[in-house]
Amino acid sequence: CVRVCEEIRKNNAIDFNYRGIKMVPGTALNKNLQDSNCEFCGACVDLCPTAALLEKDFKESAMPDKVITTICPYCGVGCSIKLEIKNKKIVRTIPDNEGPANHGQLCVKGRFGIKEFVHHKERLTKPLVRQPDGSFTEIPWDEALELIAKRFNQYKGNQFAAICSSRCTNEDNYVVQKFTRAIMGTNNVDNCARLCHAPTVSGLSISFGTGGGTNPMYELENAKCIFAIGTNATKAHPVLGLRVKKAVQNGARLIVIDPRQIELCKYADLWLQLRPGTDVALIMGIVRVIFEEGLQDTEFIKNRCENFESFEQSLNKFNIDFVEKITGIPKNKIIQAARIYATSKPASIIYTLGITEHSHGTDNVLSLSNLAMITGNIGKSSSGVNPLRGQNNVQGACDMGCVPTTYPGYQKVAELSSKEKFEKAWGTQMSAEPGLNMVDSLWATLEGKIKALYIVGIDPALTVADTNRVQKALSAAEFVVVQEIFLTETAKFADVILPGTSFAEKDGTFTNLERRVQRVKKAIEPVGDSKPDWLITCEIAKKMGGCGFDYSDPSQIMDEIASLVPSFAGISFNRLEKEGIQWPCPDSEHPGTPILHTERFNTPSGKGKLSSIEYRPSAEIPDKEYPLLLTTGRSLYHFHTVMTHKVEGLRMLSNKEMVWINPHDAASLGIENKDTVKVISRRGEVKVQALVTDDMLPGTVYMTFHFPESPTNVLTNPALDPLSKTPEYKVCAVKIEKL
Ligand code: SF4
Repeated sequence: CVRVCEEIRKNNAIDFNYRGIKMVPGTALNKNLQDSNCEFCGACVDLCPTAALLEKDFKESAMPDKVITTICPYCGVGCSIKLEIKNKKIVRTIPDNEGPANHGQLCVKGRFGIKEFVHHKERLTKPLVRQPDGSFTEIPWDEALELIAKRFNQYKGNQFAAICSSRCTNEDNYVVQKFTRAIMGTNNVDNCARLCHAPTVSGLSISFGTGGGTNPMYELENAKCIFAIGTNATKAHPVLGLRVKKAVQNGARLIVIDPRQIELCKYADLWLQLRPGTDVALIMGIVRVIFEEGLQDTEFIKNRCENFESFEQSLNKFNIDFVEKITGIPKNKIIQAARIYATSKPASIIYTLGITEHSHGTDNVLSLSNLAMITGNIGKSSSGVNPLRGQNNVQGACDMGCVPTTYPGYQKVAELSSKEKFEKAWGTQMSAEPGLNMVDSLWATLEGKIKALYIVGIDPALTVADTNRVQKALSAAEFVVVQEIFLTETAKFADVILPGTSFAEKDGTFTNLERRVQRVKKAIEPVGDSKPDWLITCEIAKKMGGCGFDYSDPSQIMDEIASLVPSFAGISFNRLEKEGIQWPCPDSEHPGTPILHTERFNTPSGKGKLSSIEYRPSAEIPDKEYPLLLTTGRSLYHFHTVMTHKVEGLRMLSNKEMVWINPHDAASLGIENKDTVKVISRRGEVKVQALVTDDMLPGTVYMTFHFPESPTNVLTNPALDPLSKTPEYKVCAVKIEKL
């Protein structure tokens, strides 16, 4: 237990106390585990040879009836887990030692955060319909489906929009977008990537021709340099964070770029504490230093890149004095970062929402692609540009065409040949007009243009920026159907609520952040009268007279996907029984593609496109009235909202929102640690506790967004990135008042 905590997890939460015959493993100074470095990953329990460490509910989980190997339903790492089932219930989750993404490791959410939410007494188990007095009553499935079919029939075309779920399987998502296009006659379909990694898809597609991460996670351990920007990997993607720590142990240089002193800073050669929203200036400044010092890969640029001249011209604006002034990072550190990244090859870039959730998120991604290309750090092992996707299947929801502009496999709605292909396959005529994204659909509801919404497994009332306005939009819609596992904040606005199933109650696939399609396996029967989401959508479609929704099993849906999406052509449930496959997988003999762009990029010319970029400040920066900059992020213990909130142990570890504030800012406002304060932006206000900490940059405050009782997104700015339409969650201006 001591070795796994120190050598694998690098937490050192437990060690040997005392010496000689009195030696016992324990926490430093025999502190409570909650006061130690413990991350509650359970790795010590998994390895304990004496059974001195056991799960609390060990007795209940002894001798399970069966064990099902499936995929964790939380983050995009896609850890493989074993669900132990006894008396038709999940009694324990343990890591799968063979899991390609996790090799026997899990984080606290995957290890201890599953069975309680799956079997929670508040799960939705019957369809519910809203009564005139606003209450919900149960309704038989057939009546619910009849009602929905009748009402949806009134809103065909562009009065309808669907929002799909990055928590649901590929098969669930494929069916929702097919229903929207083929039955409802509109391309108004989107998924939660719009709120997180849409700039990744738009940016990487422009640079490389493919909107997915370029390299597998295990290769990180062999990188000579890791450039971690806008990612708190040890908290948001904990098992991937382990690989970063391992890489450092193997000798990699680590550059961490983050406004907060996050855990990875402890392992970094260099920490650049940039002002939120200034990433373009920093990255392009680093690119310029690389050229000034002659550290670029001239051969790679010449042979494999295009648009060099206009890109080179755009560097003129990023001289080091300008970059220092904008970012707040001293010149010498910028130069050092450029030298380390350009000379320690192979170098791998990892990033997450600190890069994408900006009104210039696509520009941030394009800057990172530029950096990788000019140093030749692409198309090779342990290099590349690697977006760490947030939800378990956000990659898959985009791959499946839950996007207003693309059919499954990123085949464009605007291209006639794609439209004809899908019309032929689905036996119908479809709209040639690209649809509205999720955010625009919600705002169109306020204008009366969208009248009906079908919301599957996503909670926009809590997660979209400026939630007060979102709630008005949901109230303004004439007919809202929400398909969920709990009564979420969004479900409270529904006319009909349909009980979907959790990941444990259905078959299907998830695609993780390295494009690995993995099998999700049914471990228990659906709770109550709930039904798998793909089946519910098919039943609505059939009630509306739709053809092509007669699947008896999700494997048939995957077969249809494989027949229509070239990069999935070789993928089938049969093959996935053995192991996950990284797309593109063009035929049934193909092993999948761990590394993208080895020979050519997926652009029309086959070359990577260098982009000329300008620095644009964030849409709302602090001023006299709102003098602090609020940025947001994720906690280790929670995942968005609904599931982890139902887990008592996770709520014990983290149960309320806090605002992190620098001691200087706190002192000037008369705020002390743990004081209750009001955080106010131009859009709303929330009451939270203050956490006074040196980890924050002066002038910048930080909050997570997990708690419905203090909804952070009331504050955040809905200003959109013009290309990807992702809101600017990472920067808004606030003021704080002590209560
Ligand atoms: Fe689940 Fe992500 Fe944790 Fe793995 S790292 S156990 S996928 S939440």
